[in-house]
Amino acid sequence: MKEIEEVRIEFEEKIKKLKPEDLKKLETYFLGRKGKVAYLFELLRNIPAKEKRETGQQINELKEYIENRILQYKQLFEEEEQQEKLLKESIDITVPGLKSEFGYLHILSMVIKEIEEIFLSMGFDIMTGPEIESDYYNFEALNIPEFHPARDLQDTFYLSQKLLLRTQTSPIQVRTMEVQKPPIRIIAIGKCYRRDASDSSHSPIFHQIEGLVVDKNVSFANLKGTLLEFTRQMFGKDTKVRFSPSYFPFVEPGAETAISCVICKGKGCRVCKQSGWLEMGGSGMVHPNVLKNVDIDPEKFQGFAFGWGIERIAMIKYSIPDIRMFLQNDLRFLEQFK
Ligand SMILES: [Zn+2]
Repeated sequence: MKEIEEVRIEFEEKIKKLKPEDLKKLETYFLGRKGKVAYLFELLRNIPAKEKRETGQQINELKEYIENRILQYKQLFEEEEQQEKLLKESIDITVPGLKSEFGYLHILSMVIKEIEEIFLSMGFDIMTGPEIESDYYNFEALNIPEFHPARDLQDTFYLSQKLLLRTQTSPIQVRTMEVQKPPIRIIAIGKCYRRDASDSSHSPIFHQIEGLVVDKNVSFANLKGTLLEFTRQMFGKDTKVRFSPSYFPFVEPGAETAISCVICKGKGCRVCKQSGWLEMGGSGMVHPNVLKNVDIDPEKFQGFAFGWGIERIAMIKYSIPDIRMFLQNDLRFLEQFK
């Protein structure tokens, strides 16, 4: 029966070009209820009885052959699909990773750490105190009585009649001397608050380092030596320190301190306003009244103290032109100090 051979040839041609999405169609076309193989079985009715058996067998063989080939292709397509899926889902370990940024310390934290390390190496302890202070610790115990101009409402953030945001780190001196008897050798670093209008060198929030030494035979020479040693380690060994008489209620004598300009080395430049000197903060010998307030006998013990601005130190060391940059959280600024 020539139709058997025709169907076989047609099948071979079609399966050669088979795409996965046409598989079902092909199966129906040849093996379906009205498909080519069913058509061959129909033709079987019309052929002579003696050929029926053999021809029927040939059709069955073709049917089996078509079924097997289609099954092969089905498995092949499934495997290909699986492979493709695996390929898509596989991880390419050669692709460069997404790097996550490491955190780093704020420039002020780095400067604070540096200052602490210098003073720790000189035998100082580090103390802390509350940012919300009482009027007593911030003013009265520091020899700043009521009606003193330093208490001006315009300079201080008062929270109530008796509570305020500390305007200086000096209350930590008092708190330390209340619980510790001489010898005392401490620094305290922390935030201070003043009702300053903000400009390139003033901020209502700033940091201060307070130093305090109380012992027998402490003199102004010790103060000078301590600040000179710190200054040399912080800004370079050629840096000089200048003391000029000044008044602060909690020291006597008191001195304003300045360091030789680290930018022009004292010759005069824009940063030091041509003076060759950069003002750093107050210092002096602890006032006898302050010692008396904490029951330390000023006849037996003397002390020195100083208070410098941390932002000021950082601005000089790293040539930062504006104090407001520290709090603006501008990454372009902060990333320079990674
Ligand atoms: Zn200068």
